[in-house]
Amino acid sequence: MSEEVNLFTPLDLGFTKIKNRVLMGSMHTGLEEENDNFKKLAAFYKERALGGVGMIVTGGIAPNFQGRLSPFGSQLSFPWQLKKHKYLTNEVHNAGSKICLQILHAGRYAYHPLCVSASSSKAPISKFKARKITKLEIRKTIFDFANCANMAKKAGYDGVEIMGSEGYFLNQFLSPCTNQRTDEYGGTLQNRMRLSLEIVKSIRKKVLNDFIIIFRVSLLDLVKDGCTYDEVITFCKELEKVNVSIINTGIGWHEARIPTIATMVPRNAFVWITERVKKEISIPIIATNRINNPSDANSIINENKADMISMARPFLADPEIVNKAKDNKYDEINTCIACNQACLDHIFSGKHASCLVNPKACHETEFQKPNSIKVKNIAVIGAGPAGISFAIEAAIRGHNITIFEKNNDIGGQFNIAKNIPGKEEFHETIRYFKTQINKLNIDLKLNTTFTKETLNSTKFDELVFSTGIRPRLPEIEGIKHEKVISYPELLLNKKVAGKSVAIIGAGGIGFDVAEFLSHDPGHQPTSINKEAFYKEWGIDQEYKKRGALMDKLTPSSSREIYLLQRKSTKIGKNLGKTTGWIHRKSLKDKRVKMLNDISYQKIDDEGLHILHNDKEIILNVDNVIICAGQLSN
Ligand code: SF4
Repeated sequence: MSEEVNLFTPLDLGFTKIKNRVLMGSMHTGLEEENDNFKKLAAFYKERALGGVGMIVTGGIAPNFQGRLSPFGSQLSFPWQLKKHKYLTNEVHNAGSKICLQILHAGRYAYHPLCVSASSSKAPISKFKARKITKLEIRKTIFDFANCANMAKKAGYDGVEIMGSEGYFLNQFLSPCTNQRTDEYGGTLQNRMRLSLEIVKSIRKKVLNDFIIIFRVSLLDLVKDGCTYDEVITFCKELEKVNVSIINTGIGWHEARIPTIATMVPRNAFVWITERVKKEISIPIIATNRINNPSDANSIINENKADMISMARPFLADPEIVNKAKDNKYDEINTCIACNQACLDHIFSGKHASCLVNPKACHETEFQKPNSIKVKNIAVIGAGPAGISFAIEAAIRGHNITIFEKNNDIGGQFNIAKNIPGKEEFHETIRYFKTQINKLNIDLKLNTTFTKETLNSTKFDELVFSTGIRPRLPEIEGIKHEKVISYPELLLNKKVAGKSVAIIGAGGIGFDVAEFLSHDPGHQPTSINKEAFYKEWGIDQEYKKRGALMDKLTPSSSREIYLLQRKSTKIGKNLGKTTGWIHRKSLKDKRVKMLNDISYQKIDDEGLHILHNDKEIILNVDNVIICAGQLSN
């Protein structure tokens, strides 16, 4: 590849060209199932297409009922379903991008009792046991995939992505851990990959050669008895032979107990495997997972490590990420902080996806900018995320904004969050806020408390209060003792904790504080140090064993830490659905002692006195950190 190839160089597939190397990866938003003929989904995609993305892959659409993610999940099989898809593809094409439909058969990850898999089995993350699919049903499934792709072509899609990774149906056939069949679809690799190859051949026969087929391959299963490296390479080469246009990277099954996209995963942590596979094949390959910065994406392309970059959540955070990067306006990008809070966690709670740093995402039709406004002078009191987000939106609409902030910097609670190991991405949101405040000429008054006098001496049409929270102090005898430290004092480095610490409160902040305390000063967090991350989570870059797993090497902490909760429920029960397990596992591995059903007695020179299982215990700790919730300020 020549030096000049960069993120904005078109990708020529022979029969068609993609205008740049950026793919908006598949994301299920919940709008797929909305009863509005795809009006909201089309508006969501259109905004990203206008923002410059080369190609979009839709959320997963099932080829048949068995393959649906849930009983009411999306499926494309019948001509009467085409109208709304045509509307969607038109909107994207008119906005200048290409779009592919992702065909996803959920297999044993389907959330309904009719689910099927290679063998009869139950996924550890699913409620339903899958039935072993029969050979007759396999033949029908191959037909259903081809039919779905044909429907996609009729609906105007530029291609399809066949979902063969993340532990879904086709991955369940490929990997020996879920395929115990003894017929021609199980046993040897030749047999295990047969279904995927027959599906591709059958699709290609139907859609002919002028249609993109992306196959998403699990390059790293990250589960016990997953595929070997040689099997992955052989499979990719076979896919190439049956005329797949592009290979997309899949990392880790959904049931893998290794984080692959959450914020504690270092940026670009899995590019190495895409780069390695790229050397073995001659069709284009896409790199993915935790690539959230177009400048990194550009380097990956420029250094010939991949032919295209897939970003999914970064497009929720900023629909214009590509155009901004192209115009060299990197500071104006609203960066995805990989928190999963408003995207994946919403989806798993049955809500529409949105974005913590861009609440307009997936609500495009509801947040239309009015044609005309009456310009107002607005005072915003408090420069935390809520106040600044309001200020930015109001300033974009033409209002005159003054922000009053009593501290010497903006960011509010994000300034605390950014100091937690694994949450460094919060720095990016604060950088984005600062750029917008300057760009929009918002009058920012730091070190300024808004008082009655301020109100009387100035003329504002509206006041917006976004004064945030203050930590709640529980009523415990000795709560003012010198051992006690509040979480802001600790996390803003105003006070330093000793070698043994008890944390009162095991909500999100209690977990963050435990993570903070379990890192010794000067120790680089694994979210920054890739090698340390692989060791901590047992990812083997040498791929010696199936699934690329190896023994874990958890970084040790020199502190003794207790994480305590009054409630008798499981500790960490209310953490985010997609990230809670990571936090629990991380602290458990670091030997943080977690106790629930605690009654706090008092704090004195001896430490923290508690009642646990009707026993009085004194935790002889140097400090007690209070994380007992917050009160509105
Ligand atoms: Fe990224 Fe968090 Fe927004 Fe999801 S909610 S897109 S992870 S910033």
